[in-house]
Amino acid sequence: MFDVSFIPAFKDNYIWLLTRGDRAFVVDPGDAEPVLRRLAADRLSLEGILITHHHADHQGGVAELKKRFPVEVFAPEAESITGCTRPLRGGESIAVLGQQVSVMAVPGHTLGHLAYHAPGRLFCGDTLFGAGCGRLFEGTPAQMAASLDSIAALPDDTLIYCAHEYTEMNLRFALAVEPENPALLQRVGKVAAQRAAGLPSVPSTLGEEKATNPFLRCAEAAVIAAGMRHAGFAENAATAAIVPSRTEIFAAIRSWRNSF
Ligand code: ZN
Ligand code: FE
Repeated sequence: MFDVSFIPAFKDNYIWLLTRGDRAFVVDPGDAEPVLRRLAADRLSLEGILITHHHADHQGGVAELKKRFPVEVFAPEAESITGCTRPLRGGESIAVLGQQVSVMAVPGHTLGHLAYHAPGRLFCGDTLFGAGCGRLFEGTPAQMAASLDSIAALPDDTLIYCAHEYTEMNLRFALAVEPENPALLQRVGKVAAQRAAGLPSVPSTLGEEKATNPFLRCAEAAVIAAGMRHAGFAENAATAAIVPSRTEIFAAIRSWRNSF
């Protein structure tokens, strides 16, 4: 299995660096410069690039990296990706540094968005974040909710390598949704300590996200109540004329987050 470390980019992006000996892959190189610096410093040769979606902060460095290394570029077929050599739609199995990695279609943030699942590790771009999820730029709440369901079905000890350091901000919102969730209160303290020490708050585990991330908790009573309050449904689900679906709760929580 490859090792994973991060290359910080822009204000809050993480470019994940996968290495095995002197061979490397990167995930979502939005900027080539910090990647080239790291490859040179560690004497690594870049063999491949995994792209989750088309936004510039995820693919902006591909063209420059391709000039320096003869790389394979794995990317969503449904999106416009510079230099893509291996178009993917989800459901494929690909080889990454000798390891089988399965490709998941996770539409929502964008329509072609992919996640890459290696045993025990998920590279999920802007779909699932620490204590949050990506904005719905292209997909519907139903699509994003289904994508998050497919991620939630992975083993709880799966490490979640998302593409941004958004956890602290997301936790503030999560607390507004579930002020009395003890796992959430504990995570707030843990992440504050990590950030104060200059450490990343990611990867988290899927189990931790399931215990604290409101977007994975739309079937929990406290999240349903908060979502209904926000969406203007009657507060008591038992007496409400219309009982919202889990997707409607997800949509209400997501739209509340947009204006939080
Ligand atoms: Zn994005
Ligand atoms: Fe992004």
